[in-house]
Amino acid sequence: MYADIIVDITHEKLDKIFQYRIPKEMEGRLQTGMEVLIPFGRANRETKGYVIGFSEKCNYDPEKIKEITQISQNHIAIEAKLVALAAWMKEHYGGTMIQALKTVLPIKQQEKQKEQRSIRLLLDRREAKERLSYFLSKNQTARARVVAALLDRPILPYEYVTRQLKVTAAVLRAMEEQRILQIEAEVVYRNPVTAKRTKQQSFCYTEAQQAAIHTFCEEYRRGKRGTYLVYGVTGSGKTEVYMEMIEHVIAEGKQAIVLIPEIALTYQTVMRFYQRFGDRVSIINSRLSKGERYDQMLRAKRGEINVMIGPRSALFTPFERLGLIIIDEEHEGTYKSEQTPRYHARETAIARAAMEGASVVLGSATPSMEAFYKAVTGEFRLLRLPERAKQRAMAHVTVADMRKELEKGNRSIFSDALRSLMEDRLKKKEQIMLFLNRRGYAGFISCRSCGHVVKCPHCDVSLSSHRNGKLVCHYCGYEQPMVTSCPECGSSHVGGFRAGTQQIEELLLREFPQAKVLRMDMDTTKQKDGHEKILAAFSSGEADILVGTQMIVKGHDFGNVTLVGVLAADLSLYADDYRAGERTFQLLTQAAGRAGRGEKAGEVVIQTYSPEHYSIVAAAKQDYEQFFQEEMTYRALMGYPPASQLMAVLVSCKEEELLETACHYLKAYAETCCKKCERAGTSVQLIGPASPYVGKVRDTYRRVIYLKSEQEAVLVFLKDQLEQYIEINSGFQNLWIQFDLN
Ligand code: ADP
Ligand code: ZN
Ligand code: ZN
Repeated sequence: MYADIIVDITHEKLDKIFQYRIPKEMEGRLQTGMEVLIPFGRANRETKGYVIGFSEKCNYDPEKIKEITQISQNHIAIEAKLVALAAWMKEHYGGTMIQALKTVLPIKQQEKQKEQRSIRLLLDRREAKERLSYFLSKNQTARARVVAALLDRPILPYEYVTRQLKVTAAVLRAMEEQRILQIEAEVVYRNPVTAKRTKQQSFCYTEAQQAAIHTFCEEYRRGKRGTYLVYGVTGSGKTEVYMEMIEHVIAEGKQAIVLIPEIALTYQTVMRFYQRFGDRVSIINSRLSKGERYDQMLRAKRGEINVMIGPRSALFTPFERLGLIIIDEEHEGTYKSEQTPRYHARETAIARAAMEGASVVLGSATPSMEAFYKAVTGEFRLLRLPERAKQRAMAHVTVADMRKELEKGNRSIFSDALRSLMEDRLKKKEQIMLFLNRRGYAGFISCRSCGHVVKCPHCDVSLSSHRNGKLVCHYCGYEQPMVTSCPECGSSHVGGFRAGTQQIEELLLREFPQAKVLRMDMDTTKQKDGHEKILAAFSSGEADILVGTQMIVKGHDFGNVTLVGVLAADLSLYADDYRAGERTFQLLTQAAGRAGRGEKAGEVVIQTYSPEHYSIVAAAKQDYEQFFQEEMTYRALMGYPPASQLMAVLVSCKEEELLETACHYLKAYAETCCKKCERAGTSVQLIGPASPYVGKVRDTYRRVIYLKSEQEAVLVFLKDQLEQYIEINSGFQNLWIQFDLN
């Protein structure tokens, strides 16, 4: 027997299997997925590698085959099934096998297990708040930092407090003596003392919840596996449904993975799982040290836990008896990896589940177009939770037409409607959130008189203004001169949208001098946990108004917020991306969900120059299905996913000229491949090369070629063809090529 090994060097030329002889003492011990040390290359340098299989036949001269040196110490082998998943990911998303293997690796670097200490708050909230203001008044800022952080989360990892909050051990000991906190020697999430299993529920499931649970469990029991989409507004009881499904799967002796976006992995969510499943649950998040993560993966591998909760990477938990993968908030952008292989957790979960005989449950209040499309076409099973579990009114939404404001002579960034509601809330001492969705904002040009936005005539996405003074399409490369008057109505009020969060903060201080304002954006959250500190301050009532980018609309509950203002819905609506409408609908829905979380009903004002746009109309009515219908029409008309499939080929290079030449050849080759496909009866459309939004990064120039086809398999085939072409042509050596599917 010979071991098939992938060498731990990322290079297209080395992206193949190398065979090694297995020494006597390793026979029977060596397994697929293990990390080994091998002599490699002419110099026989000791190199790391991964065993991905065994073969009886030697494909080379047996005399020349080298022997494995040793099995690496202290590592968690990759589950054999995950090696197969890595192969699928390489095949599907491109890149090398070693990149794919490293993605599914339970933990990238091993570290010794060490004792973990944590810090627990001993005071109740009122006492803690008193202490906090006391420390602040005495300028004891280190102590204030600790108390503020503990108010946010009553148990904190010791290392987090000493390193991130920069509080010395002496101060912590002093605070322990003052009985403010207690230093405990245990892993924070591993065995939280309060996490007693308390299974009794104080409520009955709603009819919709029962139906969803019944459908899933009944099919699961009969051995039927598949993908389900739980579509239900926030608060409709999705999490309760997930937990019931997990319970059922565990009862059948299986294990479950729950993916939750990092930002929503709050203490409260995690505690709900602990209360239900006790210490058979573990969590992976970015707050855990490498050692702690290693520890959790080891427990998973040994079968000590049944449920793993975590962000995207938890998908690769080395469970042996995987029965269910849940993806909450499946529409979130963070489920897509930005590194090669650029995998999407949703598709990869479905692939893993198929390999291991598991089911997948997706959940969202605003499902991705991809997921809802598959639910509508029957590929996924749709489970609806149409109502909130606990009666609570939906917020009332008003759309403010900013074109009318201009007509009235109001040139301010606040519409009259928003301004008067803000005054009202300030008077009542209720809180306000103002939201500027700058995500994906790429300098589109619009008319303030009629709302017209300058778009690409070929792609129906907004043109972006470039430094060269031209308007450019990032999909097809189309260019036109800058406009000085509106092509639609002739008004001279055309231009880019320049307001940023900082300007809004300044404006607020001028117009509402009595209000206390907090700002949350990239600048104010640079330091680690900066954004949690701002949210904690806002939540404890330290400010009346929170201004921020999309960061503020995710997942946080503030009982006293009764007004949410979306200052310019157009910003994300006219991002230069075919998903702009979808993102806008999701953001507006999430923003609306922030208003009136407590007893009081909430109000939302959406300011826009395009009140008739379907994303805004549907968001104002909080009608996802209407949005879906309209958006699907647009996607089908323009050939965007999910109506069609889209592959981006991103080419980067340090030399601009070389990049142009390479793109030229790559495109020419792609064209011949497309012709082949056409002769075989499937049409492929080739677009570009165009400059992506970020055309140059760290002195590397980037261009992108798009391939559109109705069949994903065709695009995967084209990717393989291009990869081979790149590999055999030395001209591509100094280029970096990435593939991005949909
Ligand atoms: P989602 O995940 O859809 O936002 P959750 O499962 O978190 O919804 O439920 C929202 C709140 O309603 C939680 O406090 C939960 O305990 C409660 N809840 C869920 N189902 C019911 C029910 N059938 N009856 C009463 N309360 C419920
Ligand atoms: Zn106009
Ligand atoms: Zn275009």
